[in-house]
Amino acid sequence: QTPAPAPDPAQVRAALQETFGFSGFRGVQDQVVERVLNGHSTLAVMPTGAGKSLTYQLPAVLLEGTCVVVSPLIALMHDQLRSARANGIRAATLTSADADWRETLDAFRAGQLDLLYIAPERASQPAFRDLLASSRIALFAIDEAHCVSEWGHDFRPDYRLLRPLLDAFPHVPRLALTATADHHTRQDILAQLGIAEDGLIVAGFDRPNIRYAIRPRDSIARQLKGVIDENPGPGIIYAPTRARVEQLAETLAAQTGRRVLPYHAGLAPEVRARNQAAFVASEDMVMVATVAFGMGIDKPDVRFVAHAGIPKSIEGYYQETGRAGRDGDPSVAVMFWGADDFARARMRLAEVDEARQQSERQRLEALARLIETADCRRAVLLRHFGESPPARCGNCDTCLEPVDVIDATTLARKLLSAVYRTGQTYGLGHLEKVLMGVTDERVLQRGHDQLSVFGILREEEKPILKALARALQARGSLVPTEHGGLALGGDARDILKGEAAVMIVRPPKKERARRGRSADQ
Ligand code: ADP
Ligand code: ZN
Repeated sequence: QTPAPAPDPAQVRAALQETFGFSGFRGVQDQVVERVLNGHSTLAVMPTGAGKSLTYQLPAVLLEGTCVVVSPLIALMHDQLRSARANGIRAATLTSADADWRETLDAFRAGQLDLLYIAPERASQPAFRDLLASSRIALFAIDEAHCVSEWGHDFRPDYRLLRPLLDAFPHVPRLALTATADHHTRQDILAQLGIAEDGLIVAGFDRPNIRYAIRPRDSIARQLKGVIDENPGPGIIYAPTRARVEQLAETLAAQTGRRVLPYHAGLAPEVRARNQAAFVASEDMVMVATVAFGMGIDKPDVRFVAHAGIPKSIEGYYQETGRAGRDGDPSVAVMFWGADDFARARMRLAEVDEARQQSERQRLEALARLIETADCRRAVLLRHFGESPPARCGNCDTCLEPVDVIDATTLARKLLSAVYRTGQTYGLGHLEKVLMGVTDERVLQRGHDQLSVFGILREEEKPILKALARALQARGSLVPTEHGGLALGGDARDILKGEAAVMIVRPPKKERARRGRSADQ
């Protein structure tokens, strides 16, 4: 194949207007398209909603030959297929769910396809390589390219099969696309897919119209009702399990007077489709969903995204909250978290195979830092994605109501030694009693009133004990035991030895008042 000369800028603009109906490019789209049209392999890191599809669809229309798109999910491919065809692009998918294989193959061989979507596992089949060699390939686009990296949050071994296929067509440019890649993952994607370092293009990640807030969870239904009442527009609530989704949807529908529907992978496909369609069409509906909801949904006017528990990672958080305010209007993202979220996440960590444990643990720690920070949330987020944002954004909870950071090292040592001296088997309730000097039956029976830590809590420490325990669990210094107790973990020994400090955010007033009261009883 001899490379055809790249289309001139006037041709590119005309195709942008005629095929897609857009009057101009957005953000880094033009840089990406220009590189691709000139045959240079590229990794484009663009946030969700930034318009990644255009960066391969436009070249697919302009270049001679077919653009082969690798995509991890059949549902995603079919969404893309529909919208490409709606724009008059000659597109097809080759998946196990397609019945029109023969037509697709004929069209491809005849050079009549602009776009051909395939799943990554197809790449390793020799017959497929032969098929590709039988026609002209203009471009390989690799969507969700972070799937190729073990550092990424969604590693898929099948993506590793792509490299030999790509290398079999050395003159065909590669365009890798992802919304979510920290520094490590980016470097890894470049290496795995054989793209030169200067082929990296990163779009700005800031979503200035989203107001971020992260709060401790107490009574979640009441807290979510508060968010719904304050935000009359459409909203998404992410809950960790299907059962939680169902239960919250029911409670919130009864308590808020809004239309609230559930969405999770356990619902019948037609129910899911119906609920999703209702949400997309609605101006005030609330969808309570697992993370299964949201991919490929084009609803620009989502006014709030709430999390009833922690997301899987900062990447996940960014992606899920990023579904709010695509239209640029003010929107909010509120997360409610509890120590038990981290307990569960750490349990799951233990089940992950060893190779992935380290990166998973780092991901969890990065999330804990975002949650525990007294700094600007947006700044922490953007730094995570490799940007250098201003120290304060003025549009997140910590900027709007600056929080106090207190040195809780002494209290942390008291709590950790209580954990240690009681044998690392008891939960916070019992530890609290020991530290406060409460003589209930269990305390007496175990002889815990004889310990040096019995009753050593000072009055002013009582109201922050719970927040401290939560912070220590987020940080990994306290880890859950199998039977619901707490044990030392992470840097607990350094804290006990006085070699590490523990700074925590002063808990909200409400929580302090309640704790203070119960401690007095
Ligand atoms: P991503 O894959 O990056 O999440 P999409 O490719 O789905 O984003 O595009 C998001 C939305 O932005 C779509 O509705 C798309 O039509 C729109 N869009 C993309 N590029 C442009 C542009 N240059 N001008 C206007 N709208 C655009
Ligand atoms: Zn801020």
